[in-house]
Amino acid sequence: MANDPERDLNALPKAHLHLHFTGSMLPETLRDLAAKHSVRLPSALLTGNPLRVPADQRGWFRFQRLYDAARNCVRDESDMRRLVDEAIETDAQEGSGRLEFQVDPTSYAARLGGITPTLEIVLDQARASARAHNVDVGVIVAASRMRHPLDARTLARLAARHAGDGPGEVMGFGLSNDERSGATAQFGPAFAIAARAGLLLVPHGGELLGPAHIRQVIASLHPDRLGHGVRAAEDLTLLDDIVRRGIALEVCPQSNVSLGVYRDAAHVPLRTLVAAGANVALGADDPLLFGSRLTAQYEVLRRAGWSDAELAALARSSVQASAAATDVKARLYDGIDAWLREPGSLPPIAPAGDRAAPAAARH
Ligand SMILES: [Zn+2]
Repeated sequence: MANDPERDLNALPKAHLHLHFTGSMLPETLRDLAAKHSVRLPSALLTGNPLRVPADQRGWFRFQRLYDAARNCVRDESDMRRLVDEAIETDAQEGSGRLEFQVDPTSYAARLGGITPTLEIVLDQARASARAHNVDVGVIVAASRMRHPLDARTLARLAARHAGDGPGEVMGFGLSNDERSGATAQFGPAFAIAARAGLLLVPHGGELLGPAHIRQVIASLHPDRLGHGVRAAEDLTLLDDIVRRGIALEVCPQSNVSLGVYRDAAHVPLRTLVAAGANVALGADDPLLFGSRLTAQYEVLRRAGWSDAELAALARSSVQASAAATDVKARLYDGIDAWLREPGSLPPIAPAGDRAAPAAARH
C-alpha cells in the first residue's frame, strides 16, 4: 500500500511501553519547575534539543548529567503529580491507548518521605489521569543499575505490595540506567521477587551493549520484554532465541541515535528485527532529552520508507507486547484497522471508562 500523507500518525492507536517518568517531562514544565525552585539549569537543557549534538559528543555521560539536572527540579508532590498527568495527557494526544511508564521512586524519596509515599503519589495520580485522559495506564517500578542490588530487592518488594493490573497499580518491574554498570546476575533475586508477584519483567538491555550482554540479561533476569534489545540484530541466533521465547523489544530509535549507538534513525536495524519475527514496540524513552515523543518514532520510519500498513503492523505489535487487558487490546486493534481503512476521517479512540482490568496472561 502506498503511503497516504493524509493519514495522521497521531491518530494511529498504539501502546507506549518505554517511557521514563523524569524523561517524559515537557520542556516548558522543566522551565517552570526550575523557576519555582530557583534551580539553575544547564543551558543545554534550555535549547530545546539537548542531545542534538555532533555524533562524537553524544553519549551516556552527557545524557546522565542533563538527566540529573532535570530530576533535581522535581521536588514536591505537586511536581510529581504534574509530571504524571502531563505524561499521560501527551501520550493521549499522540494516539497512545495504553501507556506503561516506569519510575524509580528512590530518586525522589528523600524529599517525599520515602519510597512508599513517592510511589503512592505516582500511582494515585496515574489512576486519576488515566481516567481523565482516557488512556489505559500501567506503572513499572524500575530499579537502577547504579545502586546496590539490595536496593533493587527493596524496590521489588515495594512493587510486589502494589502489584495489580488495574489503573494505578504496579504491573511491571524494570532495571534502568547505564547498562555497563553493575553485575547483571546480582539483580536476579530482585527479579525473582517481582516474578513471584506476577509482575511483568522489563529490564533494559542491548542498547549500549551488544549480544553478550543481552544473553546475560535473559539468563539472569528472565525478561518478558527488553528495554531496547535492538542490538540483538547483531546476532541472528540470539535474535531467533528472543523471538522463540516471546520476548518483546521496546525499540526507541531517537534514543539510540541521541546516545550515539547508531548514526541516524535509518541505521536502527528495525527491518532486521521485524523480519526475524520480533515483537517490536516503538517507544520514546526520554523525550525531554531526546527531543522527540512517541509519534515521532513512527514518523522517522515513515520518512525511511515504511508504508502505512507496516506502521500499522508496528502499532499492532506494540499493543500485543503490552500488558493491557484483552478488551483494551481488542479496542486498540479495531482502531488500528480503522486507521488503515479510512485515512483522514478517524473517530477518536473510545473512552476506556472505569474498567476493572482482568489479569493479563503472564509467565
Ligand atoms: Zn529507557
